[in-house]
Amino acid sequence: MKKLGHNTARTKQMNRSLVLQMLFRHSSISRHEIAELTKLTPATITNITRELMADRLIVETGSLSNAFGTGRRRIGMELNADACWVLGVNISRRRLEIGSVNMKGIVEDPESHDFPPLPEEQFLQLLHERLGSYLADRPGRSFRAIGVGVFGFVSFRTGEVNWIHSGWSDIQLAAWLTVRTGLPAYVDNNVRAMALGEKMYGECKDVTDFLSVFIGTGIGSGLVVNDTLFRSGYTETGEFGFGHMTYLPDGNPCWCGGRGCLERYASESAILETLGLSHVEELLAKYRAREPQVVVHLQEVGRMIGKALVSLLNMLHVKRIVVGGRLASEELPLLGEIRKVVHERSVAVRRSPVEIAASTLGREIGVIGAAALAMNGEFFGSLNA
Ligand SMILES: [Zn+2]
Repeated sequence: MKKLGHNTARTKQMNRSLVLQMLFRHSSISRHEIAELTKLTPATITNITRELMADRLIVETGSLSNAFGTGRRRIGMELNADACWVLGVNISRRRLEIGSVNMKGIVEDPESHDFPPLPEEQFLQLLHERLGSYLADRPGRSFRAIGVGVFGFVSFRTGEVNWIHSGWSDIQLAAWLTVRTGLPAYVDNNVRAMALGEKMYGECKDVTDFLSVFIGTGIGSGLVVNDTLFRSGYTETGEFGFGHMTYLPDGNPCWCGGRGCLERYASESAILETLGLSHVEELLAKYRAREPQVVVHLQEVGRMIGKALVSLLNMLHVKRIVVGGRLASEELPLLGEIRKVVHERSVAVRRSPVEIAASTLGREIGVIGAAALAMNGEFFGSLNA
């Protein structure tokens, strides 16, 4: 009997998560539409939405006309955006970003701090100070959880980070954060977190299978298959990263120990190094001035990324690839070249097209991704357990 009771509670929790997930995916939705999509009974939907309204997580928005083309008017509901805030923290190799993120993925009060190469203890001290002052400056805002996207190998389940790039030791970052902030903490690789951000707040809410690629100092990726962010049952991390696919078998050595990895040629740092430039702004200015060497090189980089994506798409035929980072702009030739190469060379893509698009999450993509980890953990943990 005890077990039955436990299962009933779990089913109830899962149903609540399912209903809330529909509200995250649709800007406004009626009870009838939720019932159609979740296959839950109207009575169950009524009970759950009553509870969610009592918890102030959702609000009614008036009548929706022509819902699902039926012509009947229905009461719409949406997330009560500011009813819940999480702290989103993105840690890349030289930059720490912090922001408050509401249920609709809107970022408020973003802060960014660049830091030089530091020993691990000094970095943790910096993180401690910045988080402390961020929280102290906002006493009126109650945060439900903290989500952290961080470079390196990360075990989402244990919250352990391996900072192999920086030569830092392994650390139980989630536990460290909870002790210092008093908040439940969710930690994952920052680009994998961005993929979850695309699923919860970006243009991939309705796409079941997609790859999120971020071109920055390195090139990272996050894969969503069947609506689920891929994390290996073997290593508890995701894929190692698209940037370490072999592009030239005997090419330049990479920090990862491999040779000829894609990110040694196609990341922001590799492009700047090849062209002898110091900043991405300088690269963009030279491209806008149509300096031939820059134009030709960016086209070549697009083709390199396209060729690596062909191998990946022939193996994992996702519907969409979302590219983030300052180089993923339609103003630049990268996306166009990637589309061309992928279409020319991938038989899978010629059979069923793959959309290649720039991310719409903007400059705060890292903070939004980190926040998505926390929102997902707090509200949909039971669906992923
Ligand atoms: Zn590598």
